[in-house]
Amino acid sequence: MSDWVSAVYLVTAISFIVSLKLMNSPRTARLGNGLAALGMGAAIVVTFLLPGFNAANLIWILVALLIGTVIGFVSARQVQMTAMPQMVALFNGLGGGAVALVATIEFMRASKHPFGSILTIVLSTLIGALSFAGSMIAYGKLQELIPGRSIGYPGQKPMNLVLLASAIALTFFVIGTGGTNGAFVAILIVSLLLGVLAVLPIGGADMPVVISLLNSFTGVAAGLAGFVLNNTALLIGGGLVGASGLILTLQMCKAMNRSLESVLFGALGGNSHVAAGQASLSQGNIRSYSIEDAAIVFASASSVIIVPGYGMAVAQAQHAVKDLANKLTEMGVDVKYAIHPVAGRMPGHMNVLLAEADVPYDQLFDLDEINSSFPQTDVALVIGANDVTNPAARYDKNSPIYGMPILDVDKAKTCMVSKRSMSPGYAGVDNELYTMPNTVMLFGDAKVTVSKLTAALSDF
Ligand code: NDP
Repeated sequence: MSDWVSAVYLVTAISFIVSLKLMNSPRTARLGNGLAALGMGAAIVVTFLLPGFNAANLIWILVALLIGTVIGFVSARQVQMTAMPQMVALFNGLGGGAVALVATIEFMRASKHPFGSILTIVLSTLIGALSFAGSMIAYGKLQELIPGRSIGYPGQKPMNLVLLASAIALTFFVIGTGGTNGAFVAILIVSLLLGVLAVLPIGGADMPVVISLLNSFTGVAAGLAGFVLNNTALLIGGGLVGASGLILTLQMCKAMNRSLESVLFGALGGNSHVAAGQASLSQGNIRSYSIEDAAIVFASASSVIIVPGYGMAVAQAQHAVKDLANKLTEMGVDVKYAIHPVAGRMPGHMNVLLAEADVPYDQLFDLDEINSSFPQTDVALVIGANDVTNPAARYDKNSPIYGMPILDVDKAKTCMVSKRSMSPGYAGVDNELYTMPNTVMLFGDAKVTVSKLTAALSDF
């Protein structure tokens, strides 16, 4: 590799690391994203100038680049905020699939491979294909093409273990023998099957963990492809995605009170069939307020904690929520936002939405920071959040969200819930919060409800 191509790769690697640091805060995340894109662009351009690059393929590569760029650009511009998580899952899966294809081509280029090379080819195929198939299932669940809850079948766990054991055995076989086409294709098929069958039974509170784990897998696969292609930029970029994805996975596990193996082997994710559609709430215990009644409660409150959830994203209510918070602050009310680590459909979903509405960061509090404040709070205003407030997570061992720490909104003096109906959230379970004596429901679209509430408060 020429010295100056190596130098550009080094700068690229530094830009990735600095951009990861910048993405730590919503304030600098946009800059970080731009910097990483610039670094990646530079790495792509200098790759064409590598010694040995076959110029005859340039036109094909440029056409592929153009198609990918147009699809990526248009879909990123047009995607609804609510569909962002599934787009991330889709892009992540395509990254894994691309790595598996690159490794397959490298495998086919020679009839015999040295040990180091076959090792990385097989591992990047296995992990890339698994990540591709798993991410497609995650995409299907988030897009509601298939049910988001756990999808189980008899003999599920033994089947997954057999597939995992086969993948490992085939890997050893191909590495040991230098590989035959048949064994290599078998690795591809087993990895794809494993990706599908391992993610299907995962639902409820385990889904966010799996999504970040698949993200990490794609990074690891890309890093291995860097070895295969002897490309430093790919190696470092993949390594960084793999490592940061793994850190996020472990943080998600901690936040969800899960162990990684329990998520992976379905000990928790496999329970959704018990919970889905279980004991429906008694409609008689539900109190619903008009906007005017709700406004009276807010007008006499001195502290309010706003708890956003996926429904806020659906309603695109973040600007209306900020207006309400401003109105309350003007009235002398202390307003805070409580952010659950898995509220919404992707890590940081609520932070992104609230940052878009310019909500001051110092008003946002994580679960650990805010939970002790609920008992002294006059009103907890739940806006389109459901699972992350469900008290069943504390005690119901049959619930798919059992063990997940929740926001203690039920401990506030009054809990007001803005949602459209009594429908459950992502985990598909009823929420007894809605029948508690201190809870009142504000039925309707969150944006409409919150806007009307702000308008009604003008009369006070
Ligand atoms: P939930 O999915 O539990 O609940 C969302 C609620 O929003 C629904 O009950 C729905 O009720 C309501 N809603 C929908 N549209 C509107 C609207 N226009 N106006 C008002 N309300 C609306 O969301 P949470 O954020 O509480 O929980 C997130 C869930 O998603 C967790 O189970 C988590 O495990 C899972 N998950 C999270 C991921 C992540 O990375 N954050 C990734 C994958 C899954 P109604 O229809 O009655 O209005």
